[in-house]
Parts: sequence; C-alpha cells; structure tokens
Amino acid sequence: MSKKHNLGTICVQSGWQPKTGEPRVLPIFQSTTFKYETSEQMADLFDLKASGYFYTRLQNPTNDAVAAKIAELEGGVGAMLTSSGQAANFYAVFNICQAGDHFITTNSIYGGTYNLFGVTMKKLGIDCTFVDPDWDDAKIEAAFRPNTKCFFGETISNPGCNVFDIERFAKLAHKHGVPLIVDNTFATPINCRPFEWGADIVTHSTTKYMDGHATAVGGVIVDSGNFDWDAHAEKFPGLCTPDESYHGLTYTKAFGKAAFMTKATAQLMRDLGSIQSPQNAFLLNLGLETLHLRMPRHCQNAQKVAEWLEQRPEVAWVNYPGLKSNKNYALAQKYLPNGSCGVIAFGLKGTREDAIKFMDSLKFICIVTHVADARTCVLHPASHTHRQLSDEQLLEAGVRPDLIRLSVGIEDVEDIIDDIKQALEK
Ligand SMILES: *Cc1c(COP(=O)(O)O)cnc(C)c1O
Repeated sequence: MSKKHNLGTICVQSGWQPKTGEPRVLPIFQSTTFKYETSEQMADLFDLKASGYFYTRLQNPTNDAVAAKIAELEGGVGAMLTSSGQAANFYAVFNICQAGDHFITTNSIYGGTYNLFGVTMKKLGIDCTFVDPDWDDAKIEAAFRPNTKCFFGETISNPGCNVFDIERFAKLAHKHGVPLIVDNTFATPINCRPFEWGADIVTHSTTKYMDGHATAVGGVIVDSGNFDWDAHAEKFPGLCTPDESYHGLTYTKAFGKAAFMTKATAQLMRDLGSIQSPQNAFLLNLGLETLHLRMPRHCQNAQKVAEWLEQRPEVAWVNYPGLKSNKNYALAQKYLPNGSCGVIAFGLKGTREDAIKFMDSLKFICIVTHVADARTCVLHPASHTHRQLSDEQLLEAGVRPDLIRLSVGIEDVEDIIDDIKQALEK
C-alpha cells in the first residue's frame, strides 16, 4: 500500500492485496505446511537464504497480511503476530535480553505484564527494575546499569489510566544506549503512534480494541526499524554477532532494518512457538477494518460518562485522561489529542462491599475479565485481575483497592449512563 494513505484507509484496505482472480477478502490459510519443488528450495528457507513459507509456526500468509496492516498503521518496518499480548511483551523483551541482563519498566503497567516481568522473567535470570514515572530524570537514570537492555512502558496504563511520557522516556533510554518498548494496547495507532515520539518497538494485546469484539486472544510486535543495534553492539550480541543456530549468520548484517523482527521470527517463534492461529488472525483483521470508526465512539462515550460520574455524589474520584481535572490531562493533550480510550477508573465513597453491590446491580453492563471491546463492562481489579498482588504492590501499580475499571463500549451513551445511574441509586 502507498504510504500516502490515511489511517482509516489503511484499516480497510491494507494487508491482503489480491491479484487478478484471487479472493477479495483475506483467506484463512488453514495449512501448517507449504509445498516446494526441490530439496534445495526448502534448504534455502531453513538457512534464511530465501524467504518463503514452509511451516506455520514460523510464518503464515494470513498472519503476515494482518501483521503488515498493523505495521503500516504504526508506521513500522515489520510486525509479527503472537498468540497473546503476554507473548508479545515477553518476546519483545526476550529478543534482546538473556540471563544476566536487566531492563527497566514503569510500575504502572498491566497486572499480567507486572507478573511476567517481576516474577517469571526473574526465574529466567532477567532482572527488572520498576520505576515510578513521576520520579525526576536523575532518579530514573539511577536505575540504568551496564547490563540494562531496554526500557518499557504503556501508552495508557491498564487499569490505572496513566499516560506515558513517551518522548521523555525515549530520550532517557537512548541516552543510555537502549531501545524504548511501548505497549500501545489502549491507545491503538488510531489515537497514538509511539514511533512518532521516539519509541523503537511497539507491542499490543490485539485481544482488546484491535479485535474489538472479544472474539480472539492475540498480540503483535512492531519494529520501527529506527534503533541502531550495531552502534551498541556490545549490548546486543544476539543481533550483532553470529547466530550459531543459523550457520553463523549475523542478523543486523544480513537483514538491516528487519534484524529485530527476523530474529524474533527465526529464533523465538521457531523455538518457543507462540503463534497466532490463522483463524484468529482473520478475526483480528475484521476488527481492524473498523478500528478507526470504533475508537472515536469509545472516546466520546467515555468522555461523557467520566464527566457525568465526576458530578455524582456517590463517586469519590474519577480517573480519565480526558478530564480537565486529571493529573494526566496535559500529557493526554500532547500524545492523545483525538481522545485516549474507553477505559475509566473510578472509586465509590463507601466500602469495598458497596463497590461490589454497585457492580452486581448493573444490568446490561456486565462483570467480565476483559476490557476494550464493543460492550460496556466493569471489573474490580483488586478482587479480579490483580488479586495476586498485595495492597502495597497494588498501590505501586497505580491500582487503588477501591478502583472500579469501567470499559465504555460503543452503545448509545444515554443507555450506558442510565444503567450506571440505577446501579448507583441502589
Ligand atoms: C490485556 C493486556 C495485555 C495482555 O494481553 P493478552 O492478550 O491478554 O495476553 C498486555 N498489555 C496490556 C496493556 C493489556 O491490556
């Protein structure tokens, strides 16, 4: 597709480009394997001398068409679909970190990522420091070590709704010779494109707004192609020195700007195998075709609900980056001028039981362990997604124990407000 197209056209038209007589709609290539004429053709694929499909664990044409669309939406040079958002964040970091390495993340991140980084990756010998984005530069910089390999943050944190100062953290990461990885799940490229602010790698849980209908768990990693790995070759031996599992090929020399994605595919996918099924990639693509229509509606609805909640006597506090009273308002104006997302965090006056009674009294808004799809839903992170965290860790992750996460859908906003109103009155 031509780079001249706007985001809405990319959502609808990019990715699958049929030739004459081929299906207009992206086909599901439901095949684990692909046919070749000679043994040599196959051998060249295994040696990364030629590119082509041979086994769906590494690449599949349905997945690649959808990944190409997302890469174009983010303004990157390449992308890879993964089986989940968890796999995307794990691969993005693990592609450049090995045992003995260290990385830095902000503490206001999704609970699953918090566990992955703080518990599971520690078991692999990869250490991580959680920093508070409100700290000054000197205090953040003190967290960098000689073995630090990347910095991680979420454009809009789930569920704390904090807005990440991408430009500031990109500068700090680059000053220390490491890339900035941004999880852009909640903003989506419709509302923010982190590469434009200096981020190097973007990840998504496509399970959320990109799919948008709660049909398929998935993830994606996108590379901007901008980080100069060879300029810091001593930090990134996996990319800048020969890979013995590919006959001594060096990714940066052989693939240039595609080095990061090629290594993630040829090494991590080959060995760990968290692929997205082509069936799920097809569903994801259907979601992407309306992403540019759904995101503005989520934001308009959420803005109205947040403003309405702020006026209610039963409500103790409301955290939505689009509210003028919000501590993230200035950052949201800078990074998310067209709207942030549909997720609002708020707390009720009263006890934890009152919060649970409120949620149980909602009618069409239901309690689900999900956010960011067409249907409005609620969750109490302290008793659901984040229940494995202590109260202290909850507060560190920006999750107050009374926090209710409301994911505003794309229904008519009057009906959403009516449902909340009758539940508050109970
Ligand atoms: C949900 C979520 C994830 C994890 O994604 P899954 O698809 O559930 O594995 C990661 N990051 C953010 C910001 C999320 O909201």
